[in-house]
Parts: sequence; structure tokens; C-alpha cells
Amino acid sequence: MKLIRTLSDLRTHISTLPRPLGLVPTMGYLHAGHLALVRRARAECASVGVSIFVNPAQFGPQEDLARYPRALERDLRMLGDVGVDVVWAPEAGEVYPDGYQTYINVENVAVPLEGAVRPGHFRGVATVVAKLFNAFTPDRAYFGQKDAQQAAVIRRMTRDLNFPLEVIICPTVRERDGLAMSSRNTYLQPEERRAAVVLYGALSAARNAYENGEQSAEALRATMQDYLAAEPRARTEYVSIAAPDTLQELERVDRNALLSMAVRIGQTRLIDNFILRDGKWE
Ligand code: AMP
Repeated sequence: MKLIRTLSDLRTHISTLPRPLGLVPTMGYLHAGHLALVRRARAECASVGVSIFVNPAQFGPQEDLARYPRALERDLRMLGDVGVDVVWAPEAGEVYPDGYQTYINVENVAVPLEGAVRPGHFRGVATVVAKLFNAFTPDRAYFGQKDAQQAAVIRRMTRDLNFPLEVIICPTVRERDGLAMSSRNTYLQPEERRAAVVLYGALSAARNAYENGEQSAEALRATMQDYLAAEPRARTEYVSIAAPDTLQELERVDRNALLSMAVRIGQTRLIDNFILRDGKWE
């Protein structure tokens, strides 16, 4: 496994790798959710590249860029165990050199939910992902369903800008109690960690209500709101039941819906979702 810092070294190395090439973009501090993406890429591609880059452009001024957890040595050991060909871990100045001024704005799908609460977030995400696509020129790129709106934004951008690659969205990997794995879980104090299972609980409650015949999106949103409100450590930012590809809110849930939420537990902001696709829960 080769660790590379500069764009020009990356380009040179990529040109030697057998195709198809799979790319897994990450911000590091890896966990089993990231590794599931890497394993999927390993199984499907002749070469696997991983980027580790805490992207300043996707953090708001009041957000956790400075304290976002970093552990490059540990990340490299974990990736070495799975079998990765190349890791690109650039400095911020390599990605955004002096004078940088070009950004990608995906429109409607990036506006609600995370886009509304985190202005500029998806502009940063779309920009860095486009630059990663240009840097690696992958044949396939792997992302997690955990970040459902991000997945929709990237799929839209890939189509709209004609990137010649396939975007593959992989299921959310969870802790034993249902909490979605996230690098930010490390912020949680023990009491908060116990409370954080409320996101999975609220999504499960809505799924159960749907399975018992409730199809009103308003009623299912209320089920999630009420479940979250019963946890005193939780502060709900939003709950949503929307179309998975457009993120437009639904009135009725029949075969396809994205149930999603953002919740603060103490100072830590967590997101999670379930997706109903063709009548099946993912
Ligand atoms: P991040 O390092 O948080 O930017 O995540 C890098 C990639 O891993 C993104 O595509 C995420 O959606 C994905 N990811 C993060 N957490 C999980 C998880 N628990 N299960 C599956 N994929 C995940």
C-alpha cells in the first residue's frame, strides 16, 4: 500500500494501476463503516484507492473542523489489513492552493435538510468529490447510505457533469445497539452514548408504524418526533420523510421514502436514516 501526499505523485501512481479502479473518499478516523466500503471496492475492483482528507470547505465557521478526530497511523494500519493499493492524504494547500476560487453548487437536492442547517456544506462536499474524481479518475466510487443526502447530491453531480464512473451506495454499518457508526461518535460522553440510540429507536418506531399500515408521512414524522422528545438529552434539528432522489417531502409513503433526522446529543450532532426502496427497508 502506497501513501501519497501530492497530486502529481498520485497521478503518476494511478497510471500504473490495473483497472477497474475503485475509490473510497473519507475524512479518516476510520471505523467499520468505512471498512465496509473498502471491502466492497476490494471485491469489485482490480485496484482500490482511498482518500483521507478532512475537507475544510464542507465545514461551517461554527463547526468542528479544528477538533475533528484524526489518526492517520491507525487508519493506515486498518487499510493495510483490508488490502488497499493507494492512500492519498493531501495537505489542505494541495487541494485548495492559494488563489483557489472554483466551487460546485448542486441545486435543489442540496437545499433542504442538511443543506438548510449547514449552509455551504454540500458546496464543499461536491467540490472536493469532483476534485477527487479528477485526481483518481476512478471507474467506481463508493459512498455510505449513512449520509443519504450526500449520496443523492453526488449521484446528481456525477450525472449532471458526466463523470465517467459508477457511484455505488453501501448500507449503513451500525453498532450492536443500532447506533450508526460515525467518527463523531467519539465525542459522546458515556451517558450521551447511551442516549444516542434514540435515533435508531425513532427510525425503527416509524418503520413499525408503516408496517402496521400507517402511510401518512405527517403521522410517521410525528412518531419520530415524539420518540425523540422522550429522550431528555436529545434536541431534534429535523425529521424528514422525503423522496430518496429529490429530497422533496412526501405526503404519503408507499414504495419509496427516505426517513432521516438530525439530532443533537449534548454538543454532538448526529444524523441517521432508513430508506424504503421498492417496498423493502434498507
Ligand atoms: P466520512 O469519513 O464521515 O466523510 O465518511 C466517508 C464515507 O464513509 C462516506 O461515504 C460515508 O457515507 C461513509 N460512512 C460513514 N459512516 C458510515 C457507516 N456507519 N456505514 C456505512 N458508510 C459510512
